[in-house]
Amino acid sequence: MKIAFIGLGNMGGGMAANLVKAGHEVRAFDLSQDALDRAGEHGCTTAASVAEAVTDADAVVSMLPNGQIVLSAYTGEVFGAASGGAILLDCSTIDVATAREVAEQARQHGYEMVDAPVSGGIAAANGGTLTFMVGGSDEAFARAEPILQAMGKAVIHAGASGNGQAAKICNNMLLGIHMIGTCEAFAMAQKLGLDPQTFYDISSVSSGQCWSMTSYCPVPGVGPQSPADNGYQGGFAAALMLKDLRLAIEAAETADAPVPMGQRARALYEDFVGAGNGGQDFSGIIRTL
Ligand code: NAD
Repeated sequence: MKIAFIGLGNMGGGMAANLVKAGHEVRAFDLSQDALDRAGEHGCTTAASVAEAVTDADAVVSMLPNGQIVLSAYTGEVFGAASGGAILLDCSTIDVATAREVAEQARQHGYEMVDAPVSGGIAAANGGTLTFMVGGSDEAFARAEPILQAMGKAVIHAGASGNGQAAKICNNMLLGIHMIGTCEAFAMAQKLGLDPQTFYDISSVSSGQCWSMTSYCPVPGVGPQSPADNGYQGGFAAALMLKDLRLAIEAAETADAPVPMGQRARALYEDFVGAGNGGQDFSGIIRTL
């Protein structure tokens, strides 16, 4: 297939390279010349604009920073320039309302579109092992699925447009909450005189067990290898967790869903990022406890 790829940053660069590896012809565009040069080294053809990249493409994939940029890229440059039969896939993490608005405008312009945000970070993007949560019609999902399979290990249909984003932010809100809870429990256990490894051995096979403990332990030297073992570098940046928590709270307010723990998690990550820790892995919040 001829695939246009818009946004070749930390995530999009590896994803576009995996589409090339799968045998697709990828025409790539990014505002950054460095990102474009790297895409060229990975076998993409580079374009001078979004409109040029999407011309004649069978599919358009985007991996952009936020909803405002996604909305303006699609309404300003993709709609009209892409051919009528093209399937549109936005893989960025954006707010549910904007995802639904862009999909509706796509429909009015005669395109099928899915929102397909990802779980997994830069390593999963490079390794082609992302999980995609997809919102859109059955027909759009059926067309998007083989393209997404080339970049991931799991592709799950979450329902209508915007539901991919809804799944992503509900999941990440839960992750933020249970990471803070895990950090609190380890910090308190230690103050009560419990060795962290002993607490891990007990809690990891008891009812407090969760992913933040057994797959991503915030305490160095405990559990499998995690960013805690690397000075909280790499992994999932606290600034990105804060972005997702803000999107979650915004969506909760729109849906009138009470999320007291989600609000508290957002406030704690706001303090952590505001203190200059945005580039640190999100498990580094244990240092504040
Ligand atoms: P990034 O900032 O590294 O990449 C974004 C790219 O988009 C940049 O190269 C930028 O130049 C480009 N860009 C911005 N505006 C553009 C425009 N109008 N036209 C073309 N290119 C444009 O960000 P990233 O880490 O790759 O994240 C991308 C998306 O993936 C975000 O929505 C993020 O929330 C989500 N995400 C990131 C991670 C992660 O671990 N980094 C994990 C899951 C989801």
